Amino acid sequence: MCIFCKIVTKEIPSNMVAENESFYAFHDINPKAPVHVLIIPKAHYDSFRDIPGDVMGKMTTFMQNVAKEVGIDESGYRIISNIGDDGAQEVKHLHFHLLGGTHLHWGHFSDANSKDFL
Ligand code: 5GP
Ligand code: ZN
Repeated sequence: MCIFCKIVTKEIPSNMVAENESFYAFHDINPKAPVHVLIIPKAHYDSFRDIPGDVMGKMTTFMQNVAKEVGIDESGYRIISNIGDDGAQEVKHLHFHLLGGTHLHWGHFSDANSKDFL
């Protein structure tokens, strides 16, 4: 069982933000912003590549509600999902990073020069 599946079953403890029968939200153990919540489906999908569209639709509503619950809906936020090797995905259970609570800069994505790829 993967690490996030163990968080769903509570075999590994986590600091929960919200849950329903299909999805779970908890604070990232190594936060990169004042608010850094991880949002996952309880069912295991390796990454965003694998989630069916209808499940993603329900997950979208859950994610929108989590942003409200942690108080960043009005101020704004960023959602990131790292996918596969080039996406630098470390945990192979689909998760969305919900980041906010401060003005997020975009510059830390400038480690590659996009002109090199055009
Ligand atoms: P990735 O790089 O796969 O997109 O992000 C994985 C995230 O999971 C990282 O931000 C990391 O801090 C977080 N993480 C890894 N293990 C645990 C854990 O056991 N508990 C919690 N709360 N977060 C974790
Ligand atoms: Zn899993």
